[in-house]
Amino acid sequence: MSKILIIEDEEAIADLEKDYLELSGFEVQVANDGTTGLKLALTDNFNLVILDLMLPGVDGFEICRRVRDEKNTPIIMVSAKKDDIDKIRGLGLGADDYMTKPFSPSELVARVKAHLARYERLIGSVVEENKIIEIRGLKIDTTARRVWINGEEKNFTTKEFDLLTFLASHPNHVYTKDELFREIWDMESIGDIATVTVHIKKIREKIEYDTSNPQYIETIWGVGYRFKM
Ligand code: CA
Repeated sequence: MSKILIIEDEEAIADLEKDYLELSGFEVQVANDGTTGLKLALTDNFNLVILDLMLPGVDGFEICRRVRDEKNTPIIMVSAKKDDIDKIRGLGLGADDYMTKPFSPSELVARVKAHLARYERLIGSVVEENKIIEIRGLKIDTTARRVWINGEEKNFTTKEFDLLTFLASHPNHVYTKDELFREIWDMESIGDIATVTVHIKKIREKIEYDTSNPQYIETIWGVGYRFKM
């Protein structure tokens, strides 16, 4: 079942959208402020986000930008002001669609379905070539950029995913932090090799049963890290 996130501070509108989407068979979650909405959009796996522009906390512009930095989730932006819609279109924030309030709930449902179908086709078109890495309980779909540990899906940021995938693609090879930093972060990146340590820690928290005795990413003291085959 597709999961939809509605980020909307006007509760009456959010409820109406939720009702119609649920009637159409979607699972719906509502966030009534920007801060909660952004957190949910980044940490949970939604199939689509309906995003109001003017929100308490973080506004829709910022949420759209931050979600786009990390995810390809389709985003439908809504605003009461036609002028705002024109403005955000011009900004190229990466939203997939724009709607001016008020709109009919059935139009919203139609657009949601259209975007989900489009996104599924996009994902589906590459499924044939999906490269899967499976090592013990860890499964990485490098094409869809999804990770499961013992069947449970985990959320990774872009860099965490890139780092994990790089290491898992080269098992038993020891890499220094410096090598990993150069491999995963581009030259213009601000940061240093301590970034690698921080990311390894975060990855371990997600995939290791016992982070003090890692089964996947081993620390080779004084050298770097190795993904155990
Ligand atoms: Ca609003």
